[in-house]
Amino acid sequence: MIVEDDPNIADLVDLYLRNDGCNVFQATNGKRALEIFGLKNPDLIILDIGLPGELDGLEICRSIRERGDTPIIMLTARNDEIDRVVGFELGADDYVTKPFSPRELVGRVRAILRRAQAPRETSVEVIDIENIRIDSKRCEVTLNDEVVPLTSQEWSLLVYFVENRGQALSRRQLLNGAWEVDWIGDERTVDVHVRQLRKKLGASLHLDTVRGIGYRLD
Ligand code: CA
Repeated sequence: MIVEDDPNIADLVDLYLRNDGCNVFQATNGKRALEIFGLKNPDLIILDIGLPGELDGLEICRSIRERGDTPIIMLTARNDEIDRVVGFELGADDYVTKPFSPRELVGRVRAILRRAQAPRETSVEVIDIENIRIDSKRCEVTLNDEVVPLTSQEWSLLVYFVENRGQALSRRQLLNGAWEVDWIGDERTVDVHVRQLRKKLGASLHLDTVRGIGYRLD
């Protein structure tokens, strides 16, 4: 589903996605987006942050996250760092800055759908870290036996940390290694996802900041 009030952008993205074999629904405002979401249960949502009406993209993101983990790619205006950070904190999976290349956006869509549909192979099956259990067969993390909902980005990052535990990893390594896309965005994206993992999994996750390098899972 494309949620975008600019018909030129929406139609262009629509065209590229259809050419790539997707079925596409368009919504031009937040209210309609939630209606279509309820009716059609899309596999992925491309969500413009600046929308007319009462519900902007961030509100929609929050609302959709309350209902499940459908992947969300946000469209943000250039230099809108705050929106990006808030968007990730609300559970968006990725973002693309306007103006963007539709071809690149389709690449991001493909990468996220691949991850969502076929969790990547990992050498780790079940691992316990204190009261956290990471089960890569079931693609599930529990804390004190309660399932912790993670976005696909957070899940990939966590698995990458576990596979490379004990090693200091740079933000660049994490971007390329965990998400398997050539990232041209901001390395601080990693910081936002790390903050989310720490918040969701608490102190049992010994995910340390390594000054001048990045992060290490002990
Ligand atoms: Ca807009």
